[in-house]
Amino acid sequence: MQNPNNILKEVYGYDEFRPLQQEIIEHTLSGQNSVVIMPTGGGKSVCFQIPALIFEKVTLVISPLISLMRDQVEALKANGVAAAYFNSSQSDFEKRMIVEECRSNRLKLLYLSPETLVHAFDSWLKDIPVSFVAVDEAHCVSMWGHDFRPEYAQLKNFRNHYNNVPFMALTATADKITRKDISDQLGLDDPQLFLSSFNRANLSLAVRPQVPAKKKEKEIIQFVGERKEECGIMYCLSRKETEKWSAFFNSNGFNARHYHAGMTSESREAVQDGFINDQFTIICATIAFGMGIDKSNVRWIIHNNLPKNIEGYYQEIGRAGRDGLPSDTVLYYNYRDVILLNDFVQESEFKETYLEKIKRMIQYAEATSCRRNILLSYFGEYSDEPCNNCDVCQSPPEFIDGKVIAQMAISGILRTQENIGSTMLINILRGAKTGELYERNYHQLRTYGVGNGHSYAEWQHYINQLINLGFIEIAYDDHLKLKITPEGHAIIKNDKKVQLSRFISQAKKKKIEKESKTQKKSSTAVESSLFESLRAYRKEIAAQNKVPAYVIFHDATLNEIANQLPKNEAELLEIQGMGKLKLERFGEAILQIVNNHKPKEITSKLSTSQQTLALYNSGLSLDEIAAERNLSPTTIIGHLCKLFEENHPIDLNKYVTEYEVNQIRSSRKKLKNTNQLKPIYEDLNGEIDFQKIAIGLTILSKYH
Ligand code: ADP
Ligand code: ZN
Repeated sequence: MQNPNNILKEVYGYDEFRPLQQEIIEHTLSGQNSVVIMPTGGGKSVCFQIPALIFEKVTLVISPLISLMRDQVEALKANGVAAAYFNSSQSDFEKRMIVEECRSNRLKLLYLSPETLVHAFDSWLKDIPVSFVAVDEAHCVSMWGHDFRPEYAQLKNFRNHYNNVPFMALTATADKITRKDISDQLGLDDPQLFLSSFNRANLSLAVRPQVPAKKKEKEIIQFVGERKEECGIMYCLSRKETEKWSAFFNSNGFNARHYHAGMTSESREAVQDGFINDQFTIICATIAFGMGIDKSNVRWIIHNNLPKNIEGYYQEIGRAGRDGLPSDTVLYYNYRDVILLNDFVQESEFKETYLEKIKRMIQYAEATSCRRNILLSYFGEYSDEPCNNCDVCQSPPEFIDGKVIAQMAISGILRTQENIGSTMLINILRGAKTGELYERNYHQLRTYGVGNGHSYAEWQHYINQLINLGFIEIAYDDHLKLKITPEGHAIIKNDKKVQLSRFISQAKKKKIEKESKTQKKSSTAVESSLFESLRAYRKEIAAQNKVPAYVIFHDATLNEIANQLPKNEAELLEIQGMGKLKLERFGEAILQIVNNHKPKEITSKLSTSQQTLALYNSGLSLDEIAAERNLSPTTIIGHLCKLFEENHPIDLNKYVTEYEVNQIRSSRKKLKNTNQLKPIYEDLNGEIDFQKIAIGLTILSKYH
């Protein structure tokens, strides 16, 4: 019998099994059943594919999604494995070929959807000897889950037919009810449960509560602007929102599409394929999107709203970074989301459970301790080590005495007879001069203007906490008005202590985050330009073979090549993800590319801006150039603007969004076409920093 370790190396190009993979494979090889629970990206496929390669006869893989099937089969073929899928989209000829391959035992893996399985079983499949059956996305058998598929319920009949071969059920859904349902529904007696860690350390976690709409747009544009070449998913609650955001991205110079269940299946498939093949970078989708997506280089996820439970949220963010490289996730949420979610579940028979799940989600979003630990504890894994890759760990709260702040807020609410929401409260406390406030005579309250020492964002931060601490309540059934709880009343009367976390501005948080990131990163000019060349090569090969790029190589593999600079085939084979077949097919070309990128002595004789130009041309980001040259980013910006004016092909739009340039343009016009930074900066309320204004003015001077 072939050895699983050798197969892992020779076929997949990996050196070591991930936790549990080997145990699962050996368990199956000994003929026993199993239920495998691993997070998305955890490496489930290898668990059933390697036994399939070792067993003598064919392995059936039941999988609900055609696109997912196709991609897995392509990936297997690219590694030299005899695999096929069987579905309704194929011609009769293709189907006959596959049946023939099965009859003559030439296939190792056959993928089928549950529907096609029923048909095939009635005609030809019944008589084909089978070694092993794997059921992917097995949570679809559970009526408790959101993904229940009636066809999965029929799988039990097959279990009876194949009761002498091992079964493996795989899923990323961890809750206990689903787990039990899986073994019951599939009729697996006493399967061994393999539950792997749900920790995905490469995903950064951040939550942005209560961000006003305009500010949110600006933040999101900046976020994706910093990740221009990278792919990402923005999850929205409603179909309309997906369309709105996609249009918003496109009008700001990005390449986005929307996706939701209201579209025809053809257009959905087209969008999905386009995303997988890197034809555009951003997809704005409802949660209908993603289950069949096996795209390994999704680099970010934004949630536009609070998800309805932690399982769903975890699965959605899990679609980023499947290749193990660092990826970022941001969750935006708003009290209105909570109302909407509560409304959704009112009619449900499982209302109580759903409400409880929403509550857990809110607790996560409002956490003041490590978010990853909260997530993991939800799945039954406990740790109190800070993860250092979530927003809370990165800028841990510093606690201050918040009694005066609390008293101001609470008396502000009381003096309006608990008749206002948080925006009006903040306006009163800060002494704002808005029409509605004057109409309602709130400018005559004793609390008017008492809190003008704190910015709007600061007040928002403190009020959120007073709500979390239970001093103030939001009336979800009464226009989100703020009400004072008995504990809140006690603060005014007694001398009770109130501990609040100090406000840290978003700009400062970003700075801290950036510092920790540049410390981690140490890529050089050669490395990243080589990476880009390898990526271009991969794209070409993928197009020739009509498969998604990651079927050829994952980003992680290209990255490692760019890092290690292998000199010969033996060294190339050491790279993770480089199996034997891929070495044969692509090895020579890759070694050639690496060779062409050997470090050259380019820098020292050049002028300072020329040196910056050389690094810029090799694909480094602004911060990387600054780090490499030991100069400040502002100096580098100066160089780039100068080079741009000298007509070098510098893409300044990388550093400033179209939206920002437009703002700078109108402000400049308003200020009689000034070219000074400060007046524009002040006119824009400090919302766009000096560097960006300088870049914006350079762009405007050239084209306008
Ligand atoms: P899942 O189906 O659990 O979401 P996959 O099976 O698609 O995850 O695996 C995720 C990624 O991890 C794939 O790119 C896969 O090639 C890779 N992978 C799996 N096992 C290993 C391993 N032992 N070493 C390195 N990479 C692995
Ligand atoms: Zn953390």
